[in-house]
Amino acid sequence: MTSHTSDATTHVGNGHRPDGLPDRIRHYVDGAFVDSVGGETFDVLDPVSNETYVQAAAGQQADIDAAVAAARRAFTDGPWPKMLPRERSRVLHKIADLVESRDARLAELESFDSGLPITQALGQARRAAENFRFFADLIVAQADDTYKVPGRQINYVNRKPIGVAGLITPWNTPFMLESWKLAPAIATGNTVVLKPAEFTPLSASLWAGIFEEAGLPQGVFNLVNGLGEEAGDALVKHPDVPLISFTGESSTGQLIFGNAAPHLKGLSMELGGKSPAVVFADADLDAAVDATIFGVFSLNGERCTAGSRILVERAVYDEFVERYAAQAKRVRVGYPHDEATEVGALVHPEHFEKVMSYVELGKSEGRLVAGGGRPEGFETGNFVAPTVFADVKPDARIFQEEIFGPVVAITPFDTEEEALELANGVKYGLAAYVWTNDLKRAHNFSQAVEAGMVWLNSNNVRDLRTPFGGVKASGLGHEGGYRSIDFYTDQQAVHITLGKVHNPTFGKH
Ligand code: NAD
Repeated sequence: MTSHTSDATTHVGNGHRPDGLPDRIRHYVDGAFVDSVGGETFDVLDPVSNETYVQAAAGQQADIDAAVAAARRAFTDGPWPKMLPRERSRVLHKIADLVESRDARLAELESFDSGLPITQALGQARRAAENFRFFADLIVAQADDTYKVPGRQINYVNRKPIGVAGLITPWNTPFMLESWKLAPAIATGNTVVLKPAEFTPLSASLWAGIFEEAGLPQGVFNLVNGLGEEAGDALVKHPDVPLISFTGESSTGQLIFGNAAPHLKGLSMELGGKSPAVVFADADLDAAVDATIFGVFSLNGERCTAGSRILVERAVYDEFVERYAAQAKRVRVGYPHDEATEVGALVHPEHFEKVMSYVELGKSEGRLVAGGGRPEGFETGNFVAPTVFADVKPDARIFQEEIFGPVVAITPFDTEEEALELANGVKYGLAAYVWTNDLKRAHNFSQAVEAGMVWLNSNNVRDLRTPFGGVKASGLGHEGGYRSIDFYTDQQAVHITLGKVHNPTFGKH
């Protein structure tokens, strides 16, 4: 049914293997690469062959304890938290320079480990550099509030780093998402323990060399690999880690929220999504088709802000579905390292099975108009043809549940009210995309839609200064720009008396 790259068959079972892969993926604690204290490891697969290409150290409580102790020492005794913002900023810019200068290698490793198309992995590596540059600039521009009571008081905000931040990240665009937490956490003077996702640990270990070369003091950055229920859990429950920044599934977020509660930790939760793209009949249909194709099939559909439900006004519904399905069939599935590839391999066989189960389910819940299984010529590896279901009812599981793969549900609507009801009729609320040329409707719909972020007549183009986060099951708290600075700092209020001290006098009679 789907047409795909002609070179597909010549590459079957023949994915690209980068030179210079490590013999083992290790933790990085207090400036040194180390194995797990108890020697535990886990297998890491590449998503094209699904064979184990390396073993990674599987962190346990003892490894987290060592990493947190190192980070704690670097925070209490080390120079980093006390350095001037300008000095820290220089180190962060150097990190950005190094990431930029290694973008091709980073992309090669990331693409191999995660299955992301190489061109998109390259874009993500550059975004990682940009995240460091952005926070390097922000901390030197940072101003804090002062409040005056004329003649009586000046009160000012004293912003302080908090301590050891625990950073827990998912496997989709791993290096970039790590940078999104690492940059603000260390920019503000904290020290960190990063626990990257177990499906994709390869790129995370590159941070260590980059940070060393950029002059980040020893112990500021620590990395513990391992499974969520072991290393992640130990980090969340560690009493010396006052902050957890988590990105991942909503159900994992709920669990972490409970586990952190006895310690009253600061939590930032960036969770799942099932974001609507709403196309009104007056929209620029060419742009809407292109953007909604990109919105769900880029990054293999493994994207938290994917527009995975497309709601289309009835007057243009048939035309939209026809054009969308035809274009989806032309999206190039291919080997991740191939520059022509638009959709690569899903990250892991477990995730592939999950996505495929939704593809099968969709056949009874909607009308299959593109894809629907493995693409031709890809009999092995985690390849899924871009799959489009039309006429999907709002109570269908493929409408309600996050699939996190190249699968989209299209649903018609008749009125703006119905569009809003459909858009809001899921438990998630991360992003929404609205396509209309009616200015009033665009703004009123944005106001009413339950989403942390809205793009009007645009695909997902980020402005790093804006808040990033979801509502409902998509998250708690915001990151992005000054919100990240707020999360990673305590704002202490300092009060100064200017005039006569107004002391109530007790005990003088
Ligand atoms: P996941 O929840 O399975 O895992 C995320 C991380 O949490 C991994 O490092 C994992 O090891 C760790 N973890 C798992 N159980 C844990 C536990 N009990 N305690 C501590 N840590 C634990 O998510 P995933 O499958 O890796 O990522 C995909 C999900 O992430 C999707 O739902 C996607 O929407 C979401 N996501 C959200 C955003 C956002 O910004 N809102 C961005 C990217 C991805």
